[in-house]
Amino acid sequence: MYDLYHMAITLFDNSSLFWRYAVFQKINAKAFYDYSDSHKIYNTMILHIPHSKHVVPEGYRELFVLSDIALQKELLLLVDWYTDELFDGFDAVTFQYPRLLVDVERFPEDEDEPMSKVGMGMIYTRTSDGERLKRDLTVQEISVLISLYDSHHQALNDAVGHELETYGQAMLVDCHSFPSEPLRCDLNQKRPRPDFCIGTDAFHTPKDLADSLILKVQEWGYTVVENEPYEGTLVPSDYYQSNTNVRSIMIEVNRALYMDEHSGLKLESFSIIQLLIQELLFVIHQYSDRRLCR
Ligand SMILES: [Zn+2]
Repeated sequence: MYDLYHMAITLFDNSSLFWRYAVFQKINAKAFYDYSDSHKIYNTMILHIPHSKHVVPEGYRELFVLSDIALQKELLLLVDWYTDELFDGFDAVTFQYPRLLVDVERFPEDEDEPMSKVGMGMIYTRTSDGERLKRDLTVQEISVLISLYDSHHQALNDAVGHELETYGQAMLVDCHSFPSEPLRCDLNQKRPRPDFCIGTDAFHTPKDLADSLILKVQEWGYTVVENEPYEGTLVPSDYYQSNTNVRSIMIEVNRALYMDEHSGLKLESFSIIQLLIQELLFVIHQYSDRRLCR
């Protein structure tokens, strides 16, 4: 199946990216979703998509002290817009609530989480500009938000556990996007920001994999920096710093490449960026597949 993919890419390398995308999608769907193959030797790869949702569900709106306009502005800044569409084609664990309610990418304890210093720990109390975000929450309300966090992490631990049990290894891809200009709350205020950021963890990210993704992005003519403007990659708590067979890498894409950051609308380049991200995912998948075949 992979040979067919490469043949298609080679044959149509000079055609439009959209054509290549169509070919990839067709083969991708067949190769990665046909679990009935008894001779299948490749493992799957789990995508973690924590920040793609922007709808505040009924019943949660009144936790926020912001006006509708201010809330929409904050969502525009903080949501990783369309990442559930950009990162597609593999099994994904997607958080179904906006990060403004509870952020599953943060450490649960404030002393472990640097962003808690600006009111943006697991449960944000401040906006990205340092304004008040939520009213005082009751113990019951806080425990509901914590349960959303816990169930998401349980699903992630279970998905990784299933991969380990079945294949003896797991590959997690932490999928994000970031604003083209630093937010006031951001620890890293460097400008200009790169087009892509590859987040790594010394214990869980294979260096040769990170290097090959960086090289690929550079070959396309985009800028890329490892661990800037955001660093690290999420690893499920059950395996963090304890199991090297659980690998993880983060891909972050600059939103200016694919959306109008003021209106929230997609740009025409959206499909091209989607294609490039799919190719990065394919590189990661091939990497973990190769290790499995050794
Ligand atoms: Zn994110």
